[in-house]
Amino acid sequence: MDAPANDVWVFVEQRGGRPHAVSFELLSKGRKLAEQLGGTLKAVLLGHGVREAARELFRFGAREVLLVDHAALADYRTMPYARIVGELVGARQPRIVLFGATVVGRDLAPRVASQTRSGLTADCTDLQIGDVSYLRKEYKNLLLQIRPALGGNIIATIITPDVPVQMATVREGVMEASAAEGAVEGRVVELPYVAAPADELVQVVERHQEESPSNLKHAPIVVAGGYGMGTRENFGLLHKLAELLGGDVAATRAAVDAGFATSDRQVGQTGLTVRPKLYIACGISGAIQHRAGMEKSGRIVAINTDPAAPIFDICHHAIVGDVATVIHTFIEAYRERLR
Ligand SMILES: Cc1cc2nc3c(=O)[nH]c(=O)nc-3n(C[C@H](O)[C@H](O)[C@H](O)COP(=O)(O)OP(=O)(O)OC[C@H]3O[C@@H](n4cnc5c(N)ncnc54)[C@H](O)[C@@H]3O)c2cc1C
Repeated sequence: MDAPANDVWVFVEQRGGRPHAVSFELLSKGRKLAEQLGGTLKAVLLGHGVREAARELFRFGAREVLLVDHAALADYRTMPYARIVGELVGARQPRIVLFGATVVGRDLAPRVASQTRSGLTADCTDLQIGDVSYLRKEYKNLLLQIRPALGGNIIATIITPDVPVQMATVREGVMEASAAEGAVEGRVVELPYVAAPADELVQVVERHQEESPSNLKHAPIVVAGGYGMGTRENFGLLHKLAELLGGDVAATRAAVDAGFATSDRQVGQTGLTVRPKLYIACGISGAIQHRAGMEKSGRIVAINTDPAAPIFDICHHAIVGDVATVIHTFIEAYRERLR
């Protein structure tokens, strides 16, 4: 086996030939990691009729796209995808491989990691390159895999020093997607699909697709409510405000547990990660598990009766007061403006 290259790979998840948003976020982060390592950023794309999508990846800094295009790969299926990605990683030994922490990424990454005996950390919230001294050994340029641990009470930095390939899954919305500066010259390396008997063990018989009722992940303005909203009726005020502002409504886990909102609106460590331009936190204490899902928002406004609430440590605009009163005032003021 060759010595590992300093290459950073991103597994590009696609549906119907369109790359998932998280893949662009990972390419943007991967570009910086590759620069630090002096390696090359490469994308791994499997699918059918996805050659056009391959070109889009250059915009985010991929210098090479490893493409396997075949009808058998049109839909994600565990067996062929894990086998092919595992074989590629085993043969080419990149330094780092990144996957989205999506349903697909969470299925694929552990299989590839175990097949190739690589290190893997799930649900990272940050990735850095650093030198580490561990058990009297010095390691250069390790991937620091950073994520909340122990119920979110600490932020742990995890390393996998004794394996050549280090892998991580990262949730959607955690890294910022940014196109590379200037035109990136890239090349598509098309690899043949060689069938294996196990590939057809699972077949996709039918597909059903349902539109999500909320657009929370992509809303430019998020009005979020916590347990401090007090009642379901008060929580309803947030929907009115969000509608006026052209935003969407999110909730803390305590608000979901209290029945104020459904669990698909939960933001935080065990919910969604959002990065809107404006996040209005209403009756939210600011627990670390909630902050993990929203603290990278462009602007944070917090409303809380307790001046010592931790949410005030991370907000840009603090309003100390009763949330129902403040929201009523907001709604009246916006209605007045819109008249
Ligand atoms: C493993 C694990 C994972 C978790 N994952 C998540 C997660 O994904 N997302 C999440 O949100 N939480 C999560 N939690 C829970 C988290 O620890 C907190 O319990 C939760 O975020 C608290 O929600 P809250 O701020 O709505 O409620 P509280 O902490 O009860 O805060 C309510 C706030 O409202 C204020 N308030 C009360 N009345 C008013 C009023 N009239 N006007 C204005 N302010 C008022 C209070 O001063 C207080 O600050 C997780 C916990 C664990 C252990």
